[in-house]
Amino acid sequence: MPAGAIDLRSDTLTVPDAGMRAAIAAAEVGDDVWGEDPTVRRLEEGVAALLDKQAAVFVPSGTMANLAAVAAQTRPGDEVIADAQAHVALHEAGGSAAVAGVQLRLLDGFEGTPDAAMVRDAVRDQDIHNPTSKLLCLENTHNRRGGCAIALQRITAAAGAAHAEGLRVHCDGARLFNAAVALDCAAAALVGHCDTVSVCLSKGLGAPVGSVVAGDDAVIAEVRRWRKRLGGGMRQAGVLAAAGLYALDNNVARLADDHANARVIASALRGVGGATLLEPTIPTNSVMLRTAAPADVVVREAAARGVALAVMGPDLVRGMTHLGVTDTDARRAAEVLSEVLAG
Ligand SMILES: *Cc1c(COP(=O)(O)O)cnc(C)c1O
Repeated sequence: MPAGAIDLRSDTLTVPDAGMRAAIAAAEVGDDVWGEDPTVRRLEEGVAALLDKQAAVFVPSGTMANLAAVAAQTRPGDEVIADAQAHVALHEAGGSAAVAGVQLRLLDGFEGTPDAAMVRDAVRDQDIHNPTSKLLCLENTHNRRGGCAIALQRITAAAGAAHAEGLRVHCDGARLFNAAVALDCAAAALVGHCDTVSVCLSKGLGAPVGSVVAGDDAVIAEVRRWRKRLGGGMRQAGVLAAAGLYALDNNVARLADDHANARVIASALRGVGGATLLEPTIPTNSVMLRTAAPADVVVREAAARGVALAVMGPDLVRGMTHLGVTDTDARRAAEVLSEVLAG
């Protein structure tokens, strides 16, 4: 990527600012595997309270968060219901199958969230031939479906149907706070019907590392065991937790700016030749385009003009706003992309 480019490849590309670095430098630490890191504890207790759950555990990545949550709530041979475009299905190196030993039953619900009937139909009958349906995985916001925020009533419908069938429910909330801001709804409300939830601190919130899994005391004890088993037990991790605490204190409300900047780009590209804009019901910080030209060609031409995007598929291109993208950047990116797509 050329130096000075506007980097819309992902909201993981943020770097800690001076305030976050100061918080990292000042962090009180201890050995967290021994339960003695006060800053990690403060983060875990803070996220549990914020999401109205009994407990939470700090893990190195969103991928480990989802894997530990899946493994903690299933046994090998069980079936997990998820969206066909879910991160857990497509971007986690097959970990749920390879490590947790579960198979995924993939659905194609509207904006990545099945309705109650789809969930009911996907649950297997109890028969010795069948795998046991054990867990429903939701994703909010839904990354590959265009960063759409999933409204509370749709979460409630899917989760309610799963619970009625005796399944548990996990929410991959890597960008849960984007959803909460876009929906003007408390994050806790969005996961009130989910048994476990994972949130990323290292996406739009701007921390360098870290995710948190929240749920009740019993399930979080099991997730903590899985974290250790997966090699995610960290020692003086308070330096990382301090960045997460800083992110939660300073970078949640400002996600609205990222959403506004994404809207600036999307509005400019609506109806431009050469691509179709994915238009989620409730958009957040993502701009997804189905391109007429191959995605890698579009991405190369945009990069040559100083705007870095990500290839998400043969004809799928994604741009993401984040705290390193200003409103001036967004307007410039909109201009450049309009030119590139118009050919
Ligand atoms: C990024 C992401 C993850 C995984 O997070 P990592 O920290 O990159 O492992 C999980 N789910 C979704 C929806 C994501 O966007």
